[in-house]
Amino acid sequence: MSSPTFDFSEVDDLYQEIILDHYRSPRNQKEIPESDMDVTGINPFCGDEVHMRIKLSGESISAVSFSGNGCSISQASASMLSDIIKGKSLDEANNLYVDFRDMMHGNDLNEDSMDNLGQAEALSGVKKFPIRIKCALLAWSALGDAVKKHKSE
Ligand code: ZN
Repeated sequence: MSSPTFDFSEVDDLYQEIILDHYRSPRNQKEIPESDMDVTGINPFCGDEVHMRIKLSGESISAVSFSGNGCSISQASASMLSDIIKGKSLDEANNLYVDFRDMMHGNDLNEDSMDNLGQAEALSGVKKFPIRIKCALLAWSALGDAVKKHKSE
């Protein structure tokens, strides 16, 4: 399925560059041999799919692999997420999801939260496009669900 392309002309140039860099060279594509958590997000509206496999060491994320296909926003966002959560605890990863969701919903984050989001700040430019917020959130909300599920097991 082909995804509609995103009109980048209204997004800040620097943000645009970061997003396109992640889209063209997604991070953490290397399969990890074993995983403790499998994360899948599907956005039927856009045809986006993201899959992440996560290896834990205790309650910390020691390795992540990401694969998927779909629009530039969904794939760039998942690539950024896969980088950001490495080395984080599950609670920290869930907090990142909550902060990112708040940012995409137009809430102001404090400086620490923005720092923690790192390059994902680039996606804040997407919040002007309500249809794309789902694309940007896809991997993050899938991760949030997977953390919840993991903790209840
Ligand atoms: Zn999409």
